[in-house]
Amino acid sequence: MASDPVDEMKYVVVTGGVLSGLGKGVTASSIGVLLKSAGLRVTAVKIDPYLNCDAGTMSPFEHGEVFVLDDGGEVDLDLGNYERFLDVCLTRDNNITTGKVYDNVIQKERRGDYLGKTVQVIPHITNEIQDWIERVAHTPSDGNGKEPDACVIELGGTVGDIESAPFIEALRQFQFRVGQENICFVHVSLIPVMGPVGEQKTKPTQHTVKDLRGLGINPHMLVCRSKSPLVDETREKISAFCHVSTDAVVSAHDVSNIYQVPIMLDDQGVTRMLAERFGFELPTKRKVLEDWKEMADHVDTLDEAEEVHIAVAGKYTDLADSYLSVIKALQHASFKVNRKLVIDWIESSDLDDEAKESDSESFEAAWKLLREADGILVPGGFGIRGIEGKIKAAEFARLNDVPYLGVCLGLQVATIEFCRNVLGLEGANSSEFDENAPHSAVVFMPEISKTHMGGTMRLGTKPTPFLVDDCKIRRLYGGADHVDERHRHRYEVNPELIGEIEGKGLVYVGKDETGERCEIMELEGHTYYVGTQYHPEFKSRPDRPSPPFLGLLKAASGMEV
Ligand code: GLN
Repeated sequence: MASDPVDEMKYVVVTGGVLSGLGKGVTASSIGVLLKSAGLRVTAVKIDPYLNCDAGTMSPFEHGEVFVLDDGGEVDLDLGNYERFLDVCLTRDNNITTGKVYDNVIQKERRGDYLGKTVQVIPHITNEIQDWIERVAHTPSDGNGKEPDACVIELGGTVGDIESAPFIEALRQFQFRVGQENICFVHVSLIPVMGPVGEQKTKPTQHTVKDLRGLGINPHMLVCRSKSPLVDETREKISAFCHVSTDAVVSAHDVSNIYQVPIMLDDQGVTRMLAERFGFELPTKRKVLEDWKEMADHVDTLDEAEEVHIAVAGKYTDLADSYLSVIKALQHASFKVNRKLVIDWIESSDLDDEAKESDSESFEAAWKLLREADGILVPGGFGIRGIEGKIKAAEFARLNDVPYLGVCLGLQVATIEFCRNVLGLEGANSSEFDENAPHSAVVFMPEISKTHMGGTMRLGTKPTPFLVDDCKIRRLYGGADHVDERHRHRYEVNPELIGEIEGKGLVYVGKDETGERCEIMELEGHTYYVGTQYHPEFKSRPDRPSPPFLGLLKAASGMEV
């Protein structure tokens, strides 16, 4: 058996400067892929310096989608990037927030663990952060039960923010705790281009590195985001002003797709530099990276492929980050069917009858997109806005044999539509939107808290056994007897109506282990009309698309499901 590539845990800390949204998450995930390609087991930690204990109570408007983990942790969407790039399953502890750290320290103080001591940011908070990182770094995450060899830590926000100061200080101390040979600091910065000749400007990078060094952290590598590759002169200037070798000034210029980022970093020697710093042997053949490159190149070829249009009827449609995992799952499925994916975003409120009166132009445009789509997806969501439009989208798909996938709320609106228009239950609704509806097609789940919002939904992975021997969705899951997928909801299909609904052909082919809670629906006699109460998008991988999404893309591309 091959021996371990390293004998001590290796840490790569990724910080960011100048501005947010530079792609720190993609850089950190890509570095993870490179370490993995060298034979290391890699896990990841995301630090979010905000005070919320988790992302569960945060609006997708403000912070992008809430990503859900197997253990029910509601976390930052960057954890989704890590899971997809590294093919790992992380835990809620892999996302550290100020709220969580303080909560732990305050609980310890109340228990009397620090008895006699004044409890302070240094050392109590900074120690708690370091202990936390070390603990999580050693937690197996790739499904083999083995401890990781390396941990990539991404610090959210930009260096110099008041709220990230305790984390920077903890990471500064951490280099002495774990030893210099076991840690590598990577700082992601921006190189703007100015002037008539398009000069690459280094000053913002000089400043952010100065800030970081002032806080006691000397970056070992600088990843510079820029439009086009860094020119030698820029590299040399950054090297001179920022105390890093020219080799370690890495260009992260725009590439054709994000899967090319690890390749771009590897080409510039990033893996070799990590191997030298950490003292491991770089294998001559790296299958993981070869496969990765093949996938990245395949994605490029799809630009020329036949298009498949998927209309997504949601309510955060001008903010793609709000549906990040849905987009990824659609993309992964498109890689498999070799089509160029075009997502047509529809603001679902533009589809409802009210919009016809108030904004007929948007109404017409929305309906045109819906009518011309090859497939329709209604994603998860909360709150009443846009609901009637989503119900219309589900109805249109059902009546016109257009492939449909409803995720969570998407299953619920399809059920409401079916109750109204097939069972003739006029005014049927979800009690989320109308508590006094004459027929409650979707109801509040009995075990959910009505008073506390944080972490109280039905969350995380739960098994769903299939109840029918053969159906499209079960075939897509390879004939499995059950699926393990992730949940995040408060409402469910009304158990009292199930018999009636199924009698008319909308069959709940998967239910929870009690056999009562509806989990997967499929309409008989339709090309592809599927809904899941869970969120299959969270477990989709570039090389293993989520089965319900693959079904949608296949059906939308005219392939047999
Ligand atoms: N709002 C619905 C519920 O709580 C759907 C949730 C979702 O789509 N994630 O059940």
